[in-house]
Amino acid sequence: MYLKELELKGFKSFPEKTDIVFKNGITAIVGPNGSGKSNISDAVRWVLGEQSIKSLRGDKLEDVIFAGSDKKKPMNYCEVSLTIDNSDGEIDIEFTELTIKRRAYRNGESQFFLNGKPCRLKDIKELFLDTGIGKDSYSIIEQGKVDEILSNNPGVRRKVFDEACGIAKYRYKKQEAERNLKNTSENLERINDIYIEIE
Ligand code: ATP
Repeated sequence: MYLKELELKGFKSFPEKTDIVFKNGITAIVGPNGSGKSNISDAVRWVLGEQSIKSLRGDKLEDVIFAGSDKKKPMNYCEVSLTIDNSDGEIDIEFTELTIKRRAYRNGESQFFLNGKPCRLKDIKELFLDTGIGKDSYSIIEQGKVDEILSNNPGVRRKVFDEACGIAKYRYKKQEAERNLKNTSENLERINDIYIEIE
């Protein structure tokens, strides 16, 4: 599995459609200060479902959308597509290649697509659990992240190890099952109340 391609349109400092193709191996992105290098890694985290605007170095939701320049008008929406080569089947999906796309509008509306089909953020999150790729995983180490991991409490550090050794998925599924159980027992209680009223 490897990151094959990243396509940006209207994302931060990339108003034009910009296609970045990665070869299998190491790729370094170099450029002067402020040229948009970090915006590229922000785009990767954003398309993987990052919801925290602060961690994308913005103040409000629309800060990910191109805000305009001397020569160009602001854009109304942005979209990022990330293509992953999955020919080794490391991601549990039938496709040898998968493309995730996220689109967002200034009014806050946001959409996700998986291989062209609309999907939920939850689907993206579950797909990448335990692969090391998710938005919270260790595959993206931004500035200050190492310090943050080292200085955080043991619970936060453990999350990193859980993801690395494949436990995160089960923890997530357990939490989801507990949530469903709670909802179901609340529904049962409600039904019982109605039943008693009718009797
Ligand atoms: P450094 O080497 O200093 O870390 P960098 O190459 O990582 O810099 P970035 O932080 O990725 O640069 O890009 C910063 C640039 O992106 C700034 O010029 C900023 O104005 C521009 N930028 C950020 N958000 C937007 C936006 N929504 N619309 C237009 N431009 C934006």
